[in-house]
Amino acid sequence: MSISTPFHSRKDSDVYHVCGNCKDAQNIPLEHRVNGKGDGRLCQECERLQKEGGC
Ligand SMILES: [Zn+2]
Repeated sequence: MSISTPFHSRKDSDVYHVCGNCKDAQNIPLEHRVNGKGDGRLCQECERLQKEGGC
């Protein structure tokens, strides 16, 4: 398990991530990462990973 504090991309505040294993999250350059949920909803991939225990 590698659930981290919620973070999102400053370029896309519609979705936030919680899983270090999320591909979309990994595509966010470190300099674009912002802690917090922004204005968004949980990323679908993160949600799936959490359900499957692969987060
Ligand atoms: Zn995600």
